[in-house]
Amino acid sequence: MAQRVATADGGNKKTSRVRVAVRLRPYMGKLDEKNEGLCVRGLDSQNLEIINWRNATETVKYHFDVFHGEQTTQQEVFLSSVKPVLPHILNGQNASVFAYGPTGAGKTHTMLGSSEQPGVIPRAVREVFKLVKAKDEGEGWEYSIGMSYLEIYNEKVLDLLSPGSQDLPIREDKDKNILIPGLTHTTISSFSDFDKHFIPASLNRTTASTKLNQRSSRSHAILLIKVVRTQRALSHRQQTGKLYLVDLAGSEDNRRTGNQGIRLKESGAINLSLFTLSKVVDSLNSATAVRVPYRDSKLTRLLQDSLGGSAHSVMITNIAPEYKYYFDTFTALNFAAKSKLIVNKPFTRETVAVPVLPVKRARDDHEAGGSDS
Ligand code: ADP
Ligand code: MG
Repeated sequence: MAQRVATADGGNKKTSRVRVAVRLRPYMGKLDEKNEGLCVRGLDSQNLEIINWRNATETVKYHFDVFHGEQTTQQEVFLSSVKPVLPHILNGQNASVFAYGPTGAGKTHTMLGSSEQPGVIPRAVREVFKLVKAKDEGEGWEYSIGMSYLEIYNEKVLDLLSPGSQDLPIREDKDKNILIPGLTHTTISSFSDFDKHFIPASLNRTTASTKLNQRSSRSHAILLIKVVRTQRALSHRQQTGKLYLVDLAGSEDNRRTGNQGIRLKESGAINLSLFTLSKVVDSLNSATAVRVPYRDSKLTRLLQDSLGGSAHSVMITNIAPEYKYYFDTFTALNFAAKSKLIVNKPFTRETVAVPVLPVKRARDDHEAGGSDS
């Protein structure tokens, strides 16, 4: 996973790649009013294909670290993409898991899930408690687990555990740790203790969302789980590991919906942070990166010490199979993929005619071509 990256100062820095997974949610008939069927499908555990809008006799094939097909369970997503990074949190290392993708493609399902199908967040929190419990007393460390929960909305950092709080500043200490002075940080002693704080805070966010036009899809929700371990013998020796679990704002193109006023401002902030995130992930995953532009948005600035560097990072790109998501899916795949390939082979859809796509929607970032996006 680790690779050597040349830095601007000519030195060599060990940098972790961001692992990229794609999850395709199941087809939902009610989202396919025109009965057009599917426009994307999985090929195997790393590859998928989508119809090429320029030429429907072709598909565009994408390769990822992992592809989770529509049958994939919450448990499988957790086991393959998230569980392996958790032990590092107990050793003072950082990690981050993001759900990226258009609204309606399954980000919240993946991160939060439901009581019947719990997602990454409840599973990861349970696992962290389990790992801490299983630690051998003889190793001489004492562990403490805490949480913060915040939202980045319109480039403002808002504390979800303290509703009504103001925009909080992001700072960096002398050891390059990122911190937010004033952010509520609550010690938690068990999973149910976590839930006691997390559920009302999530509800706060959802309530606000109906008032403020689906705010939940227009802000980034960021849960921080922090594990601090202290050596019993030399109690001044402490290590902190941070785990960020992030449900990102919807990646759909806001320009298409003709947003104005406050919505336009939101769109600008979302575009800025997702665009910066894509540049950061690109620089981290490219062997020739010289500068990682963390400072260009609040989201990437906040995640700076937990994304790339010695941190373990996973991006789960959620996509939907219905045609109405076609361009958003294309954009999301191009965001996530570093390689794609046009395949000269019709996408098998025997009963459904290929829709004629309006020309005005054609834009550069939907281009299917070349080996690099
Ligand atoms: P997003 O957060 O990206 O806007 P949601 O997670 O709210 O999307 O998903 C949209 C709808 O699809 C929800 O009703 C959700 O329950 C359902 N859904 C998403 N992913 C899956 C999945 N893998 N299996 C079953 N239902 C899913
Ligand atoms: Mg959501």
